[in-house]
Amino acid sequence: MSSTAASAQPWFALGDDHKSIVEQLERFAKDRFWPLQEKMDDEEWWPEEVFPALGELGYLGCTVPEELGGAGLDFFSSALVLQAVAKWNPSIGLALLAHENLCLNNILHNATPELCARYVPGMSNGTIVGCLGLTEPGAGSDALGSMRTTAKRDGDHYVLNGTKLYITNGPIAQVCLVYAKTSPEKGAHGITAFAVDTDLPGFEIAQKMKKMGMRGSQTAEIVLRDCRVPVENVVGEVDRGVKVVMSGLDLERIGLAFMMIGMCERALELSVDYAKSREQFGEKISQFQFVQGMVADIYAETESLRSFCYQVAAEVNHLEAGDVRGEVSKRAAAVVLQAGLVLMRCVDRAVQIHGGSGYIWEMEVNRLYRAGKLLQIGAGTNEVRRIIIAREILGR
Ligand SMILES: Cc1cc2nc3c(=O)[nH]c(=O)nc-3n(C[C@H](O)[C@H](O)[C@H](O)COP(=O)(O)OP(=O)(O)OC[C@H]3O[C@@H](n4cnc5c(N)ncnc54)[C@H](O)[C@@H]3O)c2cc1C
Repeated sequence: MSSTAASAQPWFALGDDHKSIVEQLERFAKDRFWPLQEKMDDEEWWPEEVFPALGELGYLGCTVPEELGGAGLDFFSSALVLQAVAKWNPSIGLALLAHENLCLNNILHNATPELCARYVPGMSNGTIVGCLGLTEPGAGSDALGSMRTTAKRDGDHYVLNGTKLYITNGPIAQVCLVYAKTSPEKGAHGITAFAVDTDLPGFEIAQKMKKMGMRGSQTAEIVLRDCRVPVENVVGEVDRGVKVVMSGLDLERIGLAFMMIGMCERALELSVDYAKSREQFGEKISQFQFVQGMVADIYAETESLRSFCYQVAAEVNHLEAGDVRGEVSKRAAAVVLQAGLVLMRCVDRAVQIHGGSGYIWEMEVNRLYRAGKLLQIGAGTNEVRRIIIAREILGR
């Protein structure tokens, strides 16, 4: 492990409860998830015990009320869980974000009590894994406007047809929150959300996608072929799917930024360890000022990112889901934009400090670098994040 200076936790604005979450999760994730990293990355392997283990520990369904089987914690706590898990295993952090923030929370805040009773307890103990099916081959940044998947009413079912692309947890999920057009003529205002059981006939994993990073996180192309979904599985109101998407989007982006704090912390630790052990010209490379400068930059950028993330998370901590628009959207987009920029600068420096060994596939720093790039693309690309910020500042 690294020096005291690198590993000391700055507890900016955190109370005792929040501190103990980070400490407990860091211990747990380092012990249980860190050793899985290499095999997950090499073999694109998903260890099935991950979600039940998090459920057993009490950190799945973080913000779900206890009566529905959740942990009953605040949003800040759930973001700290992502930070700690992603530090020790970014792929598991991503799978957790998709399960909890992209699927579970949107069901919890928008579905009927009956649907919540069916899915939320299992999703909070890890026996049901969730995913989000929004993106399509022709609908990425313009996911809502360009959506082609349709849902046609037929008696007491909707019949879904279409393709969903890059779906995190797709190959391992039992439920997928699918968005489809119920009134195509109304464009983005004719979209409905459905909780779709993945064992239904017509719900097919067309392919498991091979990625450059986050390779342990399972990613699917999903084809819906005359998939009959019961009417009672509509989440929210018919034609009001945009409201469901938007209800959690800002918080999802802040959660993603917290993952990046954890990954920056790990980049610093790996860099310090390597700089203190590698010798060239008869000295540890930590004695060279260029190397010292890169370490100092990783530290300074990580801490400024942490301050911004914790500040924004504190601002939204007590907002109700769906309550989050305008100013909050700008702050959430800014924090995730900044996080992506900082993370890629930090992992780039970390690879540089490792020299040739940083370029080698099985090195942890190499995995961190490959994993990092996704976080400038998913949940809205850097460009989309900038568009949201500029629109709020400048007006439309
Ligand atoms: C590993 C992985 C996991 C994912 N997980 C999920 C998931 O679980 N569920 C899900 O639904 N989706 C998921 N996604 C999809 C992800 O959200 C999209 O990839 C992302 O929104 C970008 O869409 P796109 O890939 O189609 O790129 P495009 O939208 O085609 O963008 C291509 C380029 O054009 C730029 N661009 C597009 N529009 C504009 C504009 N108006 N102005 C300026 N530049 C623009 C983009 O910024 C980008 O640089 C995942 C993606 C990946 C790679």
